[in-house]
Amino acid sequence: MKNSKRYANEIFSDLWLPAEALEIRKDARDFADRILKPLSHDLNTTPESRDGFRHDVLQSIAGAGLYEIPFSTDVGGRGLGFPTLATLITMEELGYYAPGAASAFYDGQAILCGQTLNNASESIRQEFIPKLIKGEVICCFATSEPGTSTDLSAKAMQTSAERVEGGYVVNGHKRWITNSVAGDIVLLLCKTGATLTMLLVDMHDDGIRVSDPDMKMGNHAQLTADIEFSNVFVPEERRIGEEGSGLSVALSALTVGRAGIAALGVGMAQRAFDYSADYISEREVFGEPIALFQHWQFKYADHAIAIENARNLYQKAAMNHDRGNSSLSLMAMAKVAGSEVAVDMARDAIQACGGYGFARRMSAEGIDWPLEAIYRDSKIGEIYEGANEVQRWAIAREIFGRSITG
Ligand SMILES: Cc1cc2nc3c(=O)[nH]c(=O)nc-3n(C[C@H](O)[C@H](O)[C@H](O)COP(=O)(O)OP(=O)(O)OC[C@H]3O[C@@H](n4cnc5c(N)ncnc54)[C@H](O)[C@@H]3O)c2cc1C
Repeated sequence: MKNSKRYANEIFSDLWLPAEALEIRKDARDFADRILKPLSHDLNTTPESRDGFRHDVLQSIAGAGLYEIPFSTDVGGRGLGFPTLATLITMEELGYYAPGAASAFYDGQAILCGQTLNNASESIRQEFIPKLIKGEVICCFATSEPGTSTDLSAKAMQTSAERVEGGYVVNGHKRWITNSVAGDIVLLLCKTGATLTMLLVDMHDDGIRVSDPDMKMGNHAQLTADIEFSNVFVPEERRIGEEGSGLSVALSALTVGRAGIAALGVGMAQRAFDYSADYISEREVFGEPIALFQHWQFKYADHAIAIENARNLYQKAAMNHDRGNSSLSLMAMAKVAGSEVAVDMARDAIQACGGYGFARRMSAEGIDWPLEAIYRDSKIGEIYEGANEVQRWAIAREIFGRSITG
């Protein structure tokens, strides 16, 4: 099977997008085809290990200039008119072949950490964003803890920053922290009394211990681990925003991150669609291609509609954000649609391809199959960066108001 067809080129369209976004899609797709496609099976199936951090992939993304996309020219970025839109289109293209790597090295590095650094003091922006763009600093974004993650309230959070002369002393324990096994800095949400504050912590400081990476169902190229902080001093000038503003700092990054997860889901769904639609056009049962059965024609038509809707939704949410009208509910709708279409499409792609869909490698023929990895990798999109139940809650809040939804 040649499997080279991009159905998105034929039945979907970027018609209404600005020219700069179309250029970015071309560049990002070229990068994904050249660099990620040959590595994708390895990236998507190799189990996590401490020395398995893919510095090569992060450096390739930096070398191709893809970290310039979210940022303005004064810090070395491209200065695009619609940077969020372009960043999310890049996520979609990277996610097409390597969702775990895209989540770690683009959503984590460029979006969650990039947005947070971009909202920091001018000296932090100028010091760290140029390094991020060149791949000289590996960044982590840490809000989750063993006992809390969805609930980011000062009441639930245990990691604390105590005021001392010239700064803070941090003690606590974070969990699931992407890139931490190789991290240089961590953007850390901690409790300062009854409020939350975001601090930039140097991961090379004394008193920081990172566990071995978690062994997960999917996203193997996204290494997550626990970080323990024991009496770590953080100078006051490494605070991001005002003391007590940590939750809004974190949420402003997570809001864009959610649309990033939507774009990633669209990329995964499109890959599963393309691969399986090609296969069932050729593979015969009862003397006819599987695609001849109307059951599958209708399924693929429905998936085409869902993918195109999810793509339009994340692009609309991104453009809205770039126009300064960020809407929580639009971002939430995009996240739900993009993450769920990935799981639904991957499940049906495997079903339509039968045993081959379920296989990682057909050893007798030496052929690798990608669909089982997409199914595994898609599931976390419904959970991380705000579980989909919480996204639905955010949408319901705008429908019914907080007095009803809480
Ligand atoms: C691959 C991966 C990478 C990650 N990277 C990072 C990272 O870099 N930094 C970081 O800080 N964290 C990270 N996380 C953590 C991630 O954000 C959390 O796992 C996620 O927020 C869910 O938190 P939890 O696992 O503690 O689940 P819980 O908070 O215990 O929630 C469990 C479930 O409860 C349900 N639920 C929650 N609230 C509601 C509600 N209001 N209504 C109905 N149901 C509800 C949802 O179904 C949810 O999935 C990562 C996790 C993974 C798996």
